[in-house]
Amino acid sequence: MSAKPEVTRFAPSPTGLLHLGHAYAAGFAFREAKITGGRFLVRLEDIDGTRARPEFEDAIFEDLAWLGLSWETPVRRQSDHFADYQTHLHVLEQLGLLYPCFCTRKEIQAEIAAAGQAPQGPDGPLYPGTCRHLSPPQRDEKLASGQPYALRLDMTAAVTRAGELFFVEGESAPALARPEQFGDVVLARKDTPGSYHLAVVVDDALQGITLVTRGEDLLPATHLHRLLQDLLGLPVPRWKHHPLVTDDSGKRLAKRDQARSLRSLREAGWSAEQVWASLGLNPHTA
Ligand code: GLU
Repeated sequence: MSAKPEVTRFAPSPTGLLHLGHAYAAGFAFREAKITGGRFLVRLEDIDGTRARPEFEDAIFEDLAWLGLSWETPVRRQSDHFADYQTHLHVLEQLGLLYPCFCTRKEIQAEIAAAGQAPQGPDGPLYPGTCRHLSPPQRDEKLASGQPYALRLDMTAAVTRAGELFFVEGESAPALARPEQFGDVVLARKDTPGSYHLAVVVDDALQGITLVTRGEDLLPATHLHRLLQDLLGLPVPRWKHHPLVTDDSGKRLAKRDQARSLRSLREAGWSAEQVWASLGLNPHTA
């Protein structure tokens, strides 16, 4: 166990009721903070404004309090901090690492179909790079026409600039980061000033997070986050990815499985202790 006080966070999206998997994630982050004498923070990941709803925010706090967890205030809400994401995008832009991409999803699919296939990355097929090859006049013309665009990271240029990077998972030896597996990722869209990947590294830095805890489904994202931290000159935390909670058939829990929501368990008479016992996690002891 590390003796250093860790600052951890639980970062749910207010797009549905929390379930047992969220309880595990929150309890895991809380425990890592508490056993080291550190701090536990909550962050609302509502950057995708189309799906976030205020009633789910209220439900998150109600569930966490019922679970017996306490967190520091104020809670960071991503939608209050669009300017922070813009500032950091600007840094990448100044470094010449971003380019506007005018392709629609359909156009990208057609391009991939025409090519036969595309390498798969953690977030789906890799972008074929169409708009990276636009000449400056072609780009200017599209920008002037008011066509909507996303900002993509020029991955080859970014990796060349950063050189070899490593990240530390748990107590393991540093692992080589391989962000190139994501290709030219989208870092911002017209209606979303920062993608999940950009927002999470900016938020973790601004909140002073020293240990990022989250489900192991997000382990691949860490390769990219490490690159963005380097390019943006942000502090580098450690990571601990935990197993995902699954149902009886081994399928991971999803927000649409409302039967397993913490609210419905509470209404069915469960206690917080029963939740922790069912998860095999005690957030208050090592
Ligand atoms: N918002 C993400 C989720 O609900 C967590 C992101 C993170 O911890 O980096 O799974």
